Amino acid sequence: MKKDMQRISFVPSKAFRVQIAKMTTASVGPAVLPDEDRIETLCHALGAVRERVDAIGSERQVRLVAVSKLKPASDIYALYEKSGQRHFGENYVQELVEKAAVLPKDIQWHFIGSLQSNKCGLLANIPNLFAVETIDNVKKARRLNEARKAASEGRSGVGKLKVFIQVNTSGEDNKSGASPGEEVLDVAKYITTECEFLELQGLMTIGSIARSHAVAGGESENPDFSTLMKEKHAIESAVPKVGLLELSMGMSEDYEVAIRQGSTNVRVGSTIFGARPPKTSI
Ligand SMILES: *Cc1c(COP(=O)(O)O)cnc(C)c1O
Repeated sequence: MKKDMQRISFVPSKAFRVQIAKMTTASVGPAVLPDEDRIETLCHALGAVRERVDAIGSERQVRLVAVSKLKPASDIYALYEKSGQRHFGENYVQELVEKAAVLPKDIQWHFIGSLQSNKCGLLANIPNLFAVETIDNVKKARRLNEARKAASEGRSGVGKLKVFIQVNTSGEDNKSGASPGEEVLDVAKYITTECEFLELQGLMTIGSIARSHAVAGGESENPDFSTLMKEKHAIESAVPKVGLLELSMGMSEDYEVAIRQGSTNVRVGSTIFGARPPKTSI
C-alpha cells in the first residue's frame, strides 16, 4: 500500500528530466552523414528493396516507406541524400518530433505507432507529416481532427492531414485496430463526415506473423491482406465521397506478397536498416 502511494506521488526532478531528454536526443543525433561503410550498406539495402517493389508493383505506383524507428537521424539523412528516399515511418511521437526538427523539411513522415490522445497536438503540428496510419476509433479521429484544426488556425500551409484506418484483420488480442465490418465502417463514416481537417487516405494492417510466415515465398494469398482489400471495397461502396482508398500493408517479411495482393504503401524497416535495438535502450 505504502509503496503504491509513493509511486503515484513520484514527480521526476528537473535534473532527472534533463537527463532523460539528453538520452533521447543522443539516440536521434544530428542530421550528419554516417561513415562511408554505413552509407553503402544502407543504400544497397534500400536499393534492393526498391527493385523488388518496382518489379512486383510495376503496373501501379507503390510507395516505399522506410521505417526508421529507433535508428539515428544520420541513417535517415544518408538515404535522403544518397538515395533520394523521401518517405520515412516512425512509431514514437517524441522521436518523430526530434527527427523532424533536425532533418530536411521535404521528408514525408508517416506516423505508424500507437496513437495516444495527449500526443495528437505534437503530431498535428509537424508541417511535413504525410500521414497518420493508425487511427482505429472515433475518439482518436476526433482528437486528431481537433488538434489539426488548432494547428491550422492563423497559419497557412497546414492543410488536411491524411489518415489511414488501422484494421485488426487477424483478430489477435495484442494487435490494435478496428474490427473488420461495422467498426471500420463507423470510423470511415465519422472521418469523412465529421472531420474537416482529416482526409481518409486508406486502410492499414499489420496482420498475423504466423500467417505471414505460412505464405512467405509461396504463391498463396495472405488472408489478412485479402480481408483488408474486402474492407476497402466495402467502404468505397458504402461511404459517399470517399474516393479510392489506398492499402498500407506489407513489412520486411511480407511486402512482396502484399504488393501482389494490391498494397499501395509498404512499410519496410529491418530489411533496410538492420535489426533494431530493444525499445528500452532509448
Ligand atoms: C516496425 C514496423 C514496421 C516495420 O517492420 P519491419 O519488420 O522491421 O519491416 C512496419 N509497420 C509497423 C506498424 C511497424 O511498427
